[in-house]
Amino acid sequence: MAHEAAATSGTADKLVIRNIGLLLSGDIHTPILDADTVVATGGRITFVGRRADADLENAQCVIDAKGCALAPGLIDSHVHPVAGDWTPRQNQLGWIDSCLHGGVTTMISAGEVHMPGRPKDIVGLKAFAITAQRIFNGFRPSGVKVHAGAPVIEQGMVEEDFKDLAAAGVRLLGEVGLGSVKDGRTAREMVAWARKYGIQSTIHTGGPSIPGSGLIDKDVILAADADIIGHINGGHTALPDAQITCLCESCGRGLELVHNGNERAALHTLRVAGGLGQLERIILGTDAPAGSGVQPLGILRMIALLAGVGGVAPEIAFCFATGNTARMRELDCGLIEVGRSADFVFMDKAQQSAGGNLLESVALGDLPGVGMTVIDGVVRSHRSRNTPPASVVPEITHGN
Ligand SMILES: [Zn+2]
Repeated sequence: MAHEAAATSGTADKLVIRNIGLLLSGDIHTPILDADTVVATGGRITFVGRRADADLENAQCVIDAKGCALAPGLIDSHVHPVAGDWTPRQNQLGWIDSCLHGGVTTMISAGEVHMPGRPKDIVGLKAFAITAQRIFNGFRPSGVKVHAGAPVIEQGMVEEDFKDLAAAGVRLLGEVGLGSVKDGRTAREMVAWARKYGIQSTIHTGGPSIPGSGLIDKDVILAADADIIGHINGGHTALPDAQITCLCESCGRGLELVHNGNERAALHTLRVAGGLGQLERIILGTDAPAGSGVQPLGILRMIALLAGVGGVAPEIAFCFATGNTARMRELDCGLIEVGRSADFVFMDKAQQSAGGNLLESVALGDLPGVGMTVIDGVVRSHRSRNTPPASVVPEITHGN
């Protein structure tokens, strides 16, 4: 294997990033910060500001950004991991490492549904969810944080099951609707039990993704009241526009747009949410691995689609994959802010892009070039092997 498969990460004692040309905060209310220097200590951001005000002494690692952009590491809100960096869905190894090269530093499981022989009996599905939570907590492929252990709810589960799962460390439900619970009433009861014990929920939206899944329409979604309306743009088969509009208008839940969905429906959702003044509800995922395969650049492609075709400001589109997701998923990353996890992606406009700078290039629908990623204050990858080449890449001028 060409890629490094790091176990649970080490953390850099002190990391200094200087000469940042554009600091994208991840915060939709203040997407661009007036700062050129970020310092992290012990894997946490300890300073964001101007170089003259920063304490740069005794850094173990200094990165010269050379004027390129720094953003929080991207978050993929919807993946289907199985074990380590392997997916049987398309018989692929190293797919998570490939996504790291697309700027993704955190992934959220929407269910480990591709595990061959996945148990569907209640004790089995609970044991499997706890196992998935443990194995991805114990092993981070290439350093990427994969939040997994997301059981798919089945008929017959009782409140005690959710209590047990929560006590064992499970914090997520897999997509509601992928199992035998497909009616609004049962889903609502189980989602409420999950919420009571601190387990977050996502519901499948739209037509069946693959043989075996089914239609979940707006009535089921509104009845279930899950925290996130998973792939509201379908996976791939989208609901009619009127139903998507109704979902945006009738509740305040998260609106997840995925790469492996219907692009037209994603743009419709963006327009409706924008019209409501509720862009803070939009979060991005790939829904990979799936029938459409693995998209190492899927999150960047969604950002370029929503900015280039959807017309949203590129600095706002980056927030859909960082701060919005972190807030909704209760993560300690996703923002360039003191106290947050030091997870970063360095980007610049791709070579030969018609845009004059990174944001202009994304507004034109071009993908940015990723120059480096950092997780927990540790450099995890250098010039991306997957994005178009960045015009400028950062350089480690001290340490490693
Ligand atoms: Zn789905």
